Amino acid sequence: MENKNHLKAEVRYLCFVGILTLFAGLFFVAPDFIDNPTDDIRGKIILLAYWGIVTTCNFFVIYSLAAYKTLFAIVFPIYWILGSIVGYIRYAYSATITPMLLDATFHNDFQTSRDLITTTAIFWIAFAIIFSSLAVFFRYKYISTLNKKYIHLLLGITLLLIFLNIHPRINNGCQQRYPYNLIYNLHTYVTSYKAVSQRTMPNPDIKREIARTDSLTVVFILGESLRSDHLSINGYTRETTPFLNKETRLVSFPHIYSEYTYTNRSLPHILTRADSANIDRAFQETSFIPIFKQEGFKCTWIANQDAANTYIDFINECDTSIYVHPEKTVYVFDNWYDKDILPHLKNTLKDDCPRKLVILHTIGSHWYYNNHVPKEAEIFLPVTTNREVHRNTAEEIINSYDNTIYATDLFMKDVIDYLRNDNAIVLFLADHGEALGEEGDWLHASDNKSIKNPACFIWYSSKYEEIFPEKIQALHDNAQQQYRTDFLFHSILEAAHIPASIISEELNIFSSNEERELQQ
Ligand SMILES: [Zn+2]
Repeated sequence: MENKNHLKAEVRYLCFVGILTLFAGLFFVAPDFIDNPTDDIRGKIILLAYWGIVTTCNFFVIYSLAAYKTLFAIVFPIYWILGSIVGYIRYAYSATITPMLLDATFHNDFQTSRDLITTTAIFWIAFAIIFSSLAVFFRYKYISTLNKKYIHLLLGITLLLIFLNIHPRINNGCQQRYPYNLIYNLHTYVTSYKAVSQRTMPNPDIKREIARTDSLTVVFILGESLRSDHLSINGYTRETTPFLNKETRLVSFPHIYSEYTYTNRSLPHILTRADSANIDRAFQETSFIPIFKQEGFKCTWIANQDAANTYIDFINECDTSIYVHPEKTVYVFDNWYDKDILPHLKNTLKDDCPRKLVILHTIGSHWYYNNHVPKEAEIFLPVTTNREVHRNTAEEIINSYDNTIYATDLFMKDVIDYLRNDNAIVLFLADHGEALGEEGDWLHASDNKSIKNPACFIWYSSKYEEIFPEKIQALHDNAQQQYRTDFLFHSILEAAHIPASIISEELNIFSSNEERELQQ
């Protein structure tokens, strides 16, 4: 009789775990596979098998948790709510958990992580809370105490470990899916991203020489999510940059490589002396800004994005910082244009100081694209109508994205017009590119190739060309070269004609062949 009761309890326990597993498979695992393109029955069976493998992994987790009701009451709701969030962002935004996504989320910069707070998301999380509470209630009320609970706990954990190590493909498949992906990527994030420490200024070792000019304006524009191949100056078939196309004193560098694919990690790399051999400099050294200050430049940072703590140090290095949209922080989903930078730029350029460095941190081509496109730049139609990527067609997403480039082109026209009669140079470099459906990827912060080729171009005034003809000649000569974003630190010092020994000619886009050979 007692044995029969035990057996009944065991069966009920297995049913309980099994039903929860099915829901987990539906809510947490299925979103990873549902949009995978398959054109035949074989492909569908393979997908189903993958789904089954990852769902089995969740079965062992729930099986272990449910052994002790207190353990279940504490851990299961956390497991369930996190799983619901992971499933939701995968379903709604085609976003998966990566160390970069975690980093971006923890620093509260990744715009998309804010956009998650939609009504649907709130309902979904509320549902997860209710569902998990009911499961806990059910566990207390209807699942009788098991014989030898610890055996179930150990069995669950052991089977999970064996299962994950049967075959590398099972391990890899699970590693990228819930709940293993959360642990795996969190571990990668913690071990590979260092905290910001006290920064030291690299010694520029200035070689004194007579400055060829007293008055010079250097503008550095940090673009956002702008991929090189969608600019018509780089051969894109659509007229996304009609104004830049007409500019004769403009040189595009279409072959720039960005190792990092999201703002928080990319900016410290671009602004400091960090390069592929010395990545830690991004967290240890100051940017080029203090060197400009030392050379008598007045430095201003005009921000059209929030300051994340990975790059706020650089904003603080400037003499002045201006936030164009301080109210556009979290949860605001509203028009947010780069043209709003212009009055601040105009004002800054009026300053009497003859040597100026102005850094413009733009919102550029960040999702949700339409929010950054003023009416006059909405020329490619139809555009997206839904914040959730998957609820728009590819055509709509690309139209909206291309409109952001058209808006950037209009913005550039005004910036250049302000500087046309001065001794001035403008360097534009986007922090990274953007995926537009390549290999099923959208937006950025993933590892797609299209995200690693940011747009970059340089404009110079006629006065600048008269004073520095050799720099301009070298600029044209180097335009088809491949550079990593490492080039910026060295090149901006050269653009400002700061004769620093610290400049690596290899990374200096204004450097001639002779100068490179001389330094080697
Ligand atoms: Zn970015």
